[in-house]
Amino acid sequence: MTVILLTFVCVEFLSCGGDDDASDGSDGGSQATNIIGSWYLHLFSSKGEVYDVLAFSQNGTCHFQQVSNKSGTYQKDYDETVQYSYQDGKMRITRSDGSIKTVEVISYTQQDLILRNWPDNGVNTFLPLTNEVQQQIEKLLENSSASSGFKSCPDINHPHMIDLGLPSGTIWACCNVGASKPEEYGDFYAWGETSTKNQYTTGTYEWCINGRSHVDIGEDISCVPQFDPATKHWSRPWRMPTLALMEELLSNTTSEWISQDGVNGRTFTGRNGGKIFLPAGGNFINSNTGVGDYGNYWTSTIFGMTTSWYAYELYISLETVRVDHENYRCQGKMVRPIQ
Ligand SMILES: [Zn+2]
Repeated sequence: MTVILLTFVCVEFLSCGGDDDASDGSDGGSQATNIIGSWYLHLFSSKGEVYDVLAFSQNGTCHFQQVSNKSGTYQKDYDETVQYSYQDGKMRITRSDGSIKTVEVISYTQQDLILRNWPDNGVNTFLPLTNEVQQQIEKLLENSSASSGFKSCPDINHPHMIDLGLPSGTIWACCNVGASKPEEYGDFYAWGETSTKNQYTTGTYEWCINGRSHVDIGEDISCVPQFDPATKHWSRPWRMPTLALMEELLSNTTSEWISQDGVNGRTFTGRNGGKIFLPAGGNFINSNTGVGDYGNYWTSTIFGMTTSWYAYELYISLETVRVDHENYRCQGKMVRPIQ
């Protein structure tokens, strides 16, 4: 709760008008030395994660940047250069509009920079901006320029929306329904079912009548919570890919068979550099077969009449990646959500 307030104060301080440089006749005399280097403060607020990045230069300027994570998308909130001077444990910050803020430097070592009054009257510890952290933040900023997704997972809080630069603007999830990371296979579903089972046969198939005919649940089940496990378990707008969107993926990405963290599967890389990994979790009938050798992913589109036995799937293996049509609806396959 406090942090929310701190961030607000900080925002107000940094956004209150003034874009031209004025008052360059600021107080001479004080030395802008001793705090050279780059530091960051990691905060949490109602907006999500917030990083305050301060980069002090020898000539008395401080480059300030604020990066925040709003609704899963990192973005740069502020980017401004301020003048600073440091004397007797006090840091005097002069903004371009001439407003002045005084910050107390409580401690300043190789390990940390502890400030009072940044962002408000509280005490906060800034950590050195190592190359690694700098790269992370640059990656966040780079990702923020993407329309509505990341180009790769920015952290371990999966699932993420991955932007592959596809013509339709479709965003793909970084992992499967039921998986907690890209390398996990997740859950297997019969086509049009949203629960998992021990066996995926005509005998156990919810939409099969006496092993002879099939219930008509429509020719496309994408985004119908009753039939679509992506929508059911991840909620709208997540949904299964249609045949057309699966074909769009194949024709607008390059695919490579790789082992990622010891798990075989295929990457799909878009023209914008965005990339997803589909693990080869096999297929599931009486048991889970083909694990590590191939992987089957449902599309939401039926093959043939609405009472057909089959639906379209994506099939991946070392040798091939293709859309198949004669796949028994009752079989258990993986689902990779889109939106
Ligand atoms: Zn992810």
